[in-house]
Amino acid sequence: MMKLKLFDVGDDEAPFVEKWEDENNVTVDYVPDSLTRENIDEVSGYDGLCLSHNGPFDNSLLKDLKSMGIKQIAQRSAGYDMYDLETATANNIKITNVPSYSPNSIAEYAVTGALYFVRKIPTVQQHVAKQDFRWQPTIMARPIKGLTVAVIGTGRIGYITAELFHHMGCNVIGFDIQTHPQAENFITYKNTVQEAVKDADIVTVHTPATKDTINMFDQALFNYFKEGAIFINCARGVLVDTKALIHALDTNKLSGAVIDTYENEASYFRKDFSSSEIEDDLLQSLIKRDDILLSPHIAFYTNESVENLVERSLNSTMEIIRHGDSEYVVNK
Ligand code: NAD
Repeated sequence: MMKLKLFDVGDDEAPFVEKWEDENNVTVDYVPDSLTRENIDEVSGYDGLCLSHNGPFDNSLLKDLKSMGIKQIAQRSAGYDMYDLETATANNIKITNVPSYSPNSIAEYAVTGALYFVRKIPTVQQHVAKQDFRWQPTIMARPIKGLTVAVIGTGRIGYITAELFHHMGCNVIGFDIQTHPQAENFITYKNTVQEAVKDADIVTVHTPATKDTINMFDQALFNYFKEGAIFINCARGVLVDTKALIHALDTNKLSGAVIDTYENEASYFRKDFSSSEIEDDLLQSLIKRDDILLSPHIAFYTNESVENLVERSLNSTMEIIRHGDSEYVVNK
């Protein structure tokens, strides 16, 4: 019987791994640790590998994996930049990813964050904590219906986000280097990102990190924003110059920001710092602010996403072992 080994398996994934194992009649063993030179012997005797590696991967292991008969690594995420694809190919190892696992989950989080600030929830909570239950202008909100939302990047996630805002009665503006074929009925595309953001009450970004998008949201672009806009980044931390974002909040250019991804998140997100110091002053300042909804890259984090990541990566593993290929190979 086929035997697969999974590394980096958390308590949240384990039930889905066991479900897949039962459904596919394959032996699957899993550990919470990441694959390193210290534990590579654990791979011996297995036909396939599935990892959820976070951070730098020791690519010198690829040669050892080849000599152990491993032909693939299925990465349980969309990102695969930790693997040296040339070295993987030279060792006849196919790397797969899961490019999409629940675009709705991320889109719904962006909408949740927008409503959180539109309905002034942080201020309502502060008043209630002080036992001040009066109706007063500081907590009087606007309906989201009728607001203008700029969606920057209208691919898989941006398109669904635009659709959700459209269904709530918002006027949806878009900017993308490639317009979405089905979106033109309800997205008004602009030719530049500056034009897209300038009249928007809410700006939500859904582009990948590329040389053109890294630091796209800098002080110059925030200057184009409408006074008091809400900014949402559920895409990649490096798209935003965080100091410029804080300046935009301090000068009331922005009234709130949803930050699910942060430029220096790798050292902190997914880890417990409840009993240790955070040395990153920028992160500290994001945590302390009431006008920032900070979350540790969890926009995707629903049961549907976790199950799809496990199931789709294990399906790719099995396809490569049985048939030598999968549509999700990233080093063809
Ligand atoms: P996608 O490839 O389907 O869509 C990206 C869109 O951005 C495309 O339409 C593309 O044309 C557009 N784009 C690229 N460069 C651009 C530019 N310079 N200006 C404007 N538009 C540009 O990607 P996706 O699956 O929708 O993912 C979007 C983002 O969400 C990615 O950054 C991804 O890493 C991130 N993501 C976040 C989470 C989370 O939990 N926070 C989870 C999954 C994905």
